[in-house]
Amino acid sequence: MRVLLVEDDDRVAGALSVNLTRQRMDVDRVGTAQRALERLRTGAGHDVILLDLGLPDLDGLALCKRIRELCDVPVIMVTARTDMATRLHGLHVGADDYVTKPFDPRELVARIHAVTRRAARPAPVSPVSPAEGPDGSVPEPRADGGIAGPGGVRIDVERWEVTVDGEPVALTRKEFNLLAMLARQPGIVFTRSRILAEVWDSAWVGNQRTLEVHVAAVRAKLGVAGVIETVRGVGYRFPAG
Ligand code: CA
Repeated sequence: MRVLLVEDDDRVAGALSVNLTRQRMDVDRVGTAQRALERLRTGAGHDVILLDLGLPDLDGLALCKRIRELCDVPVIMVTARTDMATRLHGLHVGADDYVTKPFDPRELVARIHAVTRRAARPAPVSPVSPAEGPDGSVPEPRADGGIAGPGGVRIDVERWEVTVDGEPVALTRKEFNLLAMLARQPGIVFTRSRILAEVWDSAWVGNQRTLEVHVAAVRAKLGVAGVIETVRGVGYRFPAG
């Protein structure tokens, strides 16, 4: 496992490197955005990028966007910024996950394993493993390949497309998987832990906030109320026809 650590703070980088090396990870550390881009351009074979948002030469969010133009290596943002807007923005510019400082190194290691496991997986034919209904049945998408939701939303799980009134909406892979998982079984309530297990390969409690951020992002991008319904204290569902 080769980690590109983009962190300008020597003390933070040193402590992280010790922890990750202990987990038999090979840490390649750079202190600026420019050095990070140079490393990625030379194709140094990194498996994951840990990205500090506060860098001296370029904002971490802007760097994340540049990284996404270069490669698909999973990005975990490491940030002291706890506000929702920053997290949302990070996920929009292509980050796969984030941890908020201060964090438990074990949490970071768990997230590294989760994002690299997902990245290593070949692209699935369908975006989510078919979730079985209570009766064991797996609803098939309709013949036209779409699942219709409220407000003109249509989810085409075969083509990985979501449209609102025929206009395509760009969702990240995880946003799409989340929406498709719910939409395949309208009216069925999915618990948070089940969604985390299926979309994130993780039941890590810290990921609950990641889930909330993704739900908020899907709602905001679709701009349609009620596509993902919150079932208070339980989870989420896609409304039944
Ligand atoms: Ca910093």
